Amino acid sequence: MSDEERRNGPIPSCSDKKVPTKGHTIAIQITTRAGNDAPEQRVCVIGAGKSGLIACKVLHERRVPFDCFEASSQVGGLWVLNSDSGLSASYESLRINTSKQMTSFHDFPMPQHYPTYPTRKEILEYLEAYADHFGFRGCITFRTEVTRVEPLPDSSFRVFTEDKATGHTVARLYTSVVVANGHHWNAAWPELPGTFTGTLMHSHEYRTPKSMEGKRLMVIGAGNSGMDIASEASQLSRGSQASFKFPPPKFGLLRVHPTVSPGTGDILQLIKDGKVAVRPGIERIEDHTVHFPDGTKEDIDIIVCATGYNVCCPFLPSEVEVLKEDKPQLLLNVAHPHAPGIFFLGFVQAHGPMIPCVEGQMPWVADLIQGIAELPEKAQMEAKIAKQHDFNRRNFTQVKRHALMVEFHRYLLQLRAAKMQVKAVC
Ligand SMILES: Cc1cc2nc3c(=O)[nH]c(=O)nc-3n(C[C@H](O)[C@H](O)[C@H](O)COP(=O)(O)OP(=O)(O)OC[C@H]3O[C@@H](n4cnc5c(N)ncnc54)[C@H](O)[C@@H]3O)c2cc1C
Repeated sequence: MSDEERRNGPIPSCSDKKVPTKGHTIAIQITTRAGNDAPEQRVCVIGAGKSGLIACKVLHERRVPFDCFEASSQVGGLWVLNSDSGLSASYESLRINTSKQMTSFHDFPMPQHYPTYPTRKEILEYLEAYADHFGFRGCITFRTEVTRVEPLPDSSFRVFTEDKATGHTVARLYTSVVVANGHHWNAAWPELPGTFTGTLMHSHEYRTPKSMEGKRLMVIGAGNSGMDIASEASQLSRGSQASFKFPPPKFGLLRVHPTVSPGTGDILQLIKDGKVAVRPGIERIEDHTVHFPDGTKEDIDIIVCATGYNVCCPFLPSEVEVLKEDKPQLLLNVAHPHAPGIFFLGFVQAHGPMIPCVEGQMPWVADLIQGIAELPEKAQMEAKIAKQHDFNRRNFTQVKRHALMVEFHRYLLQLRAAKMQVKAVC
């Protein structure tokens, strides 16, 4: 799209915004607009985080009519602190742990004055700027949650949304659905051996270490968030203590997402200095006392469970599962063999940034939506997915938190192959 086209405002690809009557579900008639190349298509994008924004941008540029629904009142998803959807896991000190050069959109670099590892605030400003620069913000309906996607016999979908301000429900018809609701919002809790009578929280609720001042803290889980929290909290007042379960690795380098990141770079020094004690798991918990397998024990005020998230799309029919027995059921983590017409964006975890992965996914998805490409037969897709499981079993640690792992460079090549010629996928 040329700059002139961009200046002329958004391409009219959104549904009419109709105000529903209070307390009722109203059905919206699909209206096609003059100027659409393929008026029979209409896409629903769920979520306006990084993944949803990329979906919007590509559909907008291709003049495919679409609506994007975002549960919160702004774009940016995970990078919004205290998002009013309650879904963001952002905390005050969060910054990206993938460099700005690697993390940028391919056609919209981060500003030069940004540091190599920008803060969450800078990332959010960058995502806002992306929506404005490419001119599709008007196609996003905010404070509106998708509550149900109902497949219809003619292969289209009835999508139900709820206006968070009024509670009104609307049903609209779409030919495709792009699911970009993120996978870092449904907290996965560990089973604790005993009863803890102190404060128990998940890293999803963590915003700042202030409330931990002077408290004895234990963080369970040694991922990026766990390390950030342990590192920050241990630097508070004297008397605060951070310890965490940190099992000796049973796997090789890069078989899981690396733990030490720009934000947590000082964790090794803090361990050396004795400010963060490393514990080999928990044997039992009695009231405030945590007993460790090595016979030691510690009195603890707050336990933070940095134990990851459940992958969850509550609005989809139960047979459309992203994970089954902790294995992705999607071809290239994008397409479900039992749900043609529903596509998943951002359901990956890589040793690299998310944006290039989604920028690899979306052109293929757009080709599939527009009928430029087509998916293999169901049986073929299932066979390819089984191969993916085999690759993952050989290359990554088989734990739930890493179920969506892909090998970054290989994955981008696979997506490119899928886009060029579907028959050559995998
Ligand atoms: C602590 C942390 C740090 C990270 N750091 C990095 C990093 O440095 N680099 C990197 O590349 N990746 C990082 N990631 C991965 C991160 O998840 C992605 O970078 C990216 O922000 C995910 O974008 P997304 O759009 O897929 O999901 P999200 O950002 O979670 O956006 C999903 C959006 O969907 C909306 N939504 C959800 N359900 C509904 C619904 N039913 N109806 C309507 N809207 C809905 C949400 O409100 C949200 O706005 C990090 C993840 C975490 C948890």
